[in-house]
Amino acid sequence: MSLFIAALNSGSNGNCYYVGNHTEAVLIDAGISCRETEKRMKRLGLSIQNVKAVFISHEHSDHISGLEILSARYNIPVYITTTTLQGCRFSIPANRMYNFSANERIRIGGLTIKAFTKKHDACDPHSFIVQNNDGVCIGIFTDIGKACEQVVYHFRQCNAVFLEANYDEEMLAAGSYPFHLKRRISGGNGHLSNAAALELFCAHRHNRLTHLILSHLSKNNNRPELVEQVFMQHAGQTKIIVASRYHETEVYHIHQTAVTTEQIIYQHNAVQLSMF
Ligand SMILES: [Zn+2]
Ligand SMILES: [Zn+2]
Repeated sequence: MSLFIAALNSGSNGNCYYVGNHTEAVLIDAGISCRETEKRMKRLGLSIQNVKAVFISHEHSDHISGLEILSARYNIPVYITTTTLQGCRFSIPANRMYNFSANERIRIGGLTIKAFTKKHDACDPHSFIVQNNDGVCIGIFTDIGKACEQVVYHFRQCNAVFLEANYDEEMLAAGSYPFHLKRRISGGNGHLSNAAALELFCAHRHNRLTHLILSHLSKNNNRPELVEQVFMQHAGQTKIIVASRYHETEVYHIHQTAVTTEQIIYQHNAVQLSMF
């Protein structure tokens, strides 16, 4: 068993992330139109019938704009906190609406989804990890003002992560945004910079992390080539992908990586050394 993942779109114009096994899938956020979601999933060979739930991270329109129609058309349950729903301009019928709490483990077939709170200027924002019953773990960490302890803790468990790399610090500083907006983006409750994302990756990646999908890039304060170049220098064994704000990524197949013999010997030696 393993998981299939894709970003259907990523950026301030819309976010929708797909995580699924062979029979069940969940979407994290529904920030592109239902029609675009259908079109992109079809192009990728992903079945919308497999989508058993949509989880909503927060109420900003780039995360919810397609939700109402998508959920209604396909009768898909929506997991959203009551506080986040209060921040939306629509309601979800009670028979399709499920509340969730941070650190609760929600089972959707063979998938387990766990939310945790994040730093972002929204009512009740959450990040998610999605785990398959064979232990493969995917993180969806976008719209995070900083890589707090919670992000670090969960990042270390993942085989693949959609990680925000929103802005280049110099481009934001030199850009045309008004001061209050610059401060909102970079002030710890907005978005994660390339440098902060890189620091998290370099300091806390586990050797099982096979795919890093840099996500939610700013249109004005970042460049995909820059992000790719910065991260490729430190990639090691991890595949670096930059998600687009214009089209879907390909589908990545994430396996549980076996611990290699060298790693076992290394760990054994480390234990031996720690005894002295
Ligand atoms: Zn966003
Ligand atoms: Zn947001």
